[in-house]
Amino acid sequence: MEKIVTRFAPSPTGKFHVGGIRSALYNYLYAKKNGGKFILRCEDTDVTRSKKEYEDYFLAVFKWLGLNYDEYFRQSERTEIYKKYLNKLIGEGKAYISKEEIRKEGDRSEVIRFKNPNKIINFHDEVLGDLSFDTTESKDFIIARDLENPLFNFTNAVDDFEMGVTHIIRGQEHVSNTPRQILIGEAIGAPRPIYAHGSIILNEKRAKLSKRDLLVCPALEYKDNGYLPEALLNFLSLLGWNPGTEQEIFSLKELIDVFSLERMQKQGAIFNPEKLDWINKEHIKKLSPEKIEKNIFEWLPEEYRNPKIIPIILERISKWGDIKEMVAKGELDFFFKAPVVLKEKLIYKNSSPEKIANNLKLATRALEAVDNFTEENIKSVLMSLADNLDNRGELLHPVRFALSGLDKSPDPFTIASIIGKNETLSRLQKAI
Ligand code: GLU
Repeated sequence: MEKIVTRFAPSPTGKFHVGGIRSALYNYLYAKKNGGKFILRCEDTDVTRSKKEYEDYFLAVFKWLGLNYDEYFRQSERTEIYKKYLNKLIGEGKAYISKEEIRKEGDRSEVIRFKNPNKIINFHDEVLGDLSFDTTESKDFIIARDLENPLFNFTNAVDDFEMGVTHIIRGQEHVSNTPRQILIGEAIGAPRPIYAHGSIILNEKRAKLSKRDLLVCPALEYKDNGYLPEALLNFLSLLGWNPGTEQEIFSLKELIDVFSLERMQKQGAIFNPEKLDWINKEHIKKLSPEKIEKNIFEWLPEEYRNPKIIPIILERISKWGDIKEMVAKGELDFFFKAPVVLKEKLIYKNSSPEKIANNLKLATRALEAVDNFTEENIKSVLMSLADNLDNRGELLHPVRFALSGLDKSPDPFTIASIIGKNETLSRLQKAI
């Protein structure tokens, strides 16, 4: 059996984004699943638009994601190869040098045009089915500015041949390039690869994602916002492919096992950020307690790195970046310093200040007697007090509020056990 070779071929003309990762991932998965080879190819022949920093950028993304490639090529280093093919095509009359006017400057220059056989190209796409294109309208299209400066469709087709690429998996925006690439492939004697053009990605308004769309933000922003690479890959895998089962959470290994071209879908895939967050949280849950602590601590200011608040944080985040937000909003401050407590907010609903003060005193007295200041002990003491009242909130609310000073916070038992007995009593005293 022929060895399967896939490739992902980004152009370094901008910061690499999410849609690109999806194509890269499908190529990676398909190669790995079939014991094949996955090539990464930097398509940097457009000297004016290509930038080294963008190449470095996508390389950093691949590194972060752990998508390992077997070979790496840079088209700018392959000029001699393209030249050889250009000369061959010219020699065989399949391409020709044409002198033409450059519109802007009015002077004449040479370009290399492909001699279009003007035929119908039929090809089968694994996702889109049988497609047919009349290439006549492409006329004798330009494949190089000169022997040293080949253009995209040409270098793309030559490299797919030279590198033995068997499967081309990419986004639907490339369908229209395919007939010209097939014509070039035929002219250089390349076997035809198998094509699979993945669905376009839509935002929730069902509009195509554009460069200006927030959702198409540069890929490393996901790293900076504290998403797990395995979660982002899992999420993107499901944008345009489905496993055919109910399972939604996959490790990269599991994706390799279940991925297939047959389950790539034609219809547009919706990019749903809430789903990404949900998937990310599921992947966080799969991490070891040590890893979770290490990550959470990395995102916390040093003075907040207390193991006791880890469960609280974990419950409230879906990605590490949420921690930064919690810290910025002061949502964790009360664990480390006594809050400013607004008097009137201690009052529960229509209760009176006297009643509230009295309940806080009851709570204080009861807690003073608790020697082993654990969450369970605190809870059992406070709940038995509260259960004797007409309304439990008249005790539980002021205690919670006295400890946190916030409208929304963890329950008072958790907070008390974390800040400890002395601090708890002192905050209650102040509130009284
Ligand atoms: N260099 C092309 C791009 O970044 C990739 C074309 C392809 O995958 O065939 O759009």
